[in-house]
Amino acid sequence: MPRTPDARTRRRGAAGMAALALAAAVTAGCASNPVSGRREVTLMSEAEEIAIGQRGDAEIRREMGVYHDEEMQRYVSGVGERIAAVSHRPSLPWTFTVLDVPVVNAFALPGGYVYVTRGLLAHLGDESELAGVLGHEVGHVTARHASQQYTRSATGSLGVLLASIFVPGVAPFSDVASMGLGTLFLKYGRDDELESDRLGVEYASKAGWDPESVPRFLTTLSRMDAMTTRGIPTWLSTHPDPGSRVDKALPLAAKAGEGPRERHRDEFLRRLEGMTWGDDPSEGVVQANRFLHPDLRIALDFPEGWEVQNSSDQVVATLEGEKLLMLFRAADTARGASLADGAKRHMRGLGFTLEQGAEEPVGGINAFVGLYKGKAKQVGPVRVRAAHVPIGRQVYLVAGVAPEAQYAQVEAEFEAAVRSFRQLSSSEATRVRPNRVGLYTTRAGDSWQAIAQRAGKGLVPATRLALMNGFAVNVQPPAGSVVKIVTEG
Ligand SMILES: [Zn+2]
Repeated sequence: MPRTPDARTRRRGAAGMAALALAAAVTAGCASNPVSGRREVTLMSEAEEIAIGQRGDAEIRREMGVYHDEEMQRYVSGVGERIAAVSHRPSLPWTFTVLDVPVVNAFALPGGYVYVTRGLLAHLGDESELAGVLGHEVGHVTARHASQQYTRSATGSLGVLLASIFVPGVAPFSDVASMGLGTLFLKYGRDDELESDRLGVEYASKAGWDPESVPRFLTTLSRMDAMTTRGIPTWLSTHPDPGSRVDKALPLAAKAGEGPRERHRDEFLRRLEGMTWGDDPSEGVVQANRFLHPDLRIALDFPEGWEVQNSSDQVVATLEGEKLLMLFRAADTARGASLADGAKRHMRGLGFTLEQGAEEPVGGINAFVGLYKGKAKQVGPVRVRAAHVPIGRQVYLVAGVAPEAQYAQVEAEFEAAVRSFRQLSSSEATRVRPNRVGLYTTRAGDSWQAIAQRAGKGLVPATRLALMNGFAVNVQPPAGSVVKIVTEG
């Protein structure tokens, strides 16, 4: 959900990105690969790579949000620029951005746009690991992996770009599709990943960092369970099989040059201290099936057991294996219209017509609650329970969408969720705080379990604490070492 209560009327969409990518890929040519030097058929010039990267960059910044810490951004850019300078394509307009996203991920767009999440930073052990990750992503760009995939999809082997939009059709569904930014997250092949690992070692080493960082962080990844994706792929889903990559990267790192092997562990950990961990309340917090937005002062309980995904402009809840959907977002209703007219017009714009509805209180606020019908691609006829709830100058939409045949079964759950919409008191709102990364100096006899409970107040389990510090949970940290913990904000 947005940081401000302004309605956002932008038309976003993965479909737009895919169309752009395909449109850009019309001028065929042959060029030599900057890394391998081999000639290869490419449908994309460097200028087109940059243009696609630029468009994708705008989408990513808007959709995922940039982490609001200038100093951290500058620091990560500095490390990235040192890497880019020793890469095969130093003259690309490189940018390195920390995204305000709690999942562990890093990715790159054609043209030199590289991203790491704050969730990934929290799992790194030192600066050389950051250099290794950035080196890997820079490698995807310099070796033109994404460009080659765009090329291949345009030449007809597989609609990589379009195939990843999983539920197109009626507007709320296409919004869900674009929320995952499916088109941007091309899965690289195994060879591409290994080449990027090799380039990560090469670049980090050339730029003066310890190249052992690459297998070291791959080991951390191999320990990581598949994490909740929240609509955004984790590193694991875009970078498969980290375990065997460790075996490949180890000898490469050992062979890498004789130069300096910087790690800067202490300085790196000090930079991480205070960084947001988990959800950032300024965009709303998900606690199990509950969504809380302390700035907007609103809360909503989705049905129990549903997975709730918060993105920058809406909250979506789904039940695994079912074509059911609930969503919560600011509604773009026509100004000056009555609540009922505005609601009807809004829903008509999304492809739904009103069957019955009335003004009634939701969370003590006079709202328009209606039952609508319409069609969704790949779902067929659907029914929608929707409430339009005005707060100040903003109208919020809370809606449940189900296939017609299934609607009666879930109506009570939809109804309860819609009715749970409420305003938070100021004291409730101020109690919603993000957790942060803290530092802790271990004492003799400390175990991850003890640290998690005592210093970490049980905010994250011992396994997570060990993982974010580069340890297996059954290997205890030596006394007197500084480790990361998660603390209350
Ligand atoms: Zn990769």
